[in-house]
Amino acid sequence: MSRRELHARDGEALYAAILTELAAEFPAFRIVTKERDALSRAIDVGLRLVTLGGQREYLTRYRTVLGDTLYVPAAWDGTDPTDRVICLRHERVHLRQRRRLTLVGMAALYLLVPLPLGLAYGRARLEWEAYEETLRATLELKGEAAMLDPELRREVIAQFTGPAYGWMWPFRAAVERWFDEAVARRLAEAAR
Ligand SMILES: [Zn+2]
Repeated sequence: MSRRELHARDGEALYAAILTELAAEFPAFRIVTKERDALSRAIDVGLRLVTLGGQREYLTRYRTVLGDTLYVPAAWDGTDPTDRVICLRHERVHLRQRRRLTLVGMAALYLLVPLPLGLAYGRARLEWEAYEETLRATLELKGEAAMLDPELRREVIAQFTGPAYGWMWPFRAAVERWFDEAVARRLAEAAR
């Protein structure tokens, strides 16, 4: 069976399986739709302000973990189940970081080190770790071509250098080097 056929048949099963794993590891974990959530709407307004409109897609595009809750856009249920699994694997890294660092430590690292906008090294460190898992999951579930897709590279790099996360690490060359090394690490892992 080709990977694509496997993918179509097993995507929903994989999604159900990771939800079960997450429920066991993080019993309070839940998924909430942003558009219907007052806190998410308030964050959206705040982000538009501090990024001067650079982040306008918080409600409709981005998935965000706060505490034990994953906030998702309404389109979540209609998204390819494999992409939902890849997302949950990324967010599981953040849940584990939070357990490791405690909520206060993580909030401080995420928001305040060293500045809330731009040069947010603490936040970049947390996202680098989570995107390593995004790449690992993409390679496992969608194959090498998907991981090497220039569109994925562009999109991930833009998360660090652009307004989505408040220009958290705007040194494009350094982020590109990290990305290319992370991809090489995944290929080396897969070759073992
Ligand atoms: Zn993340």
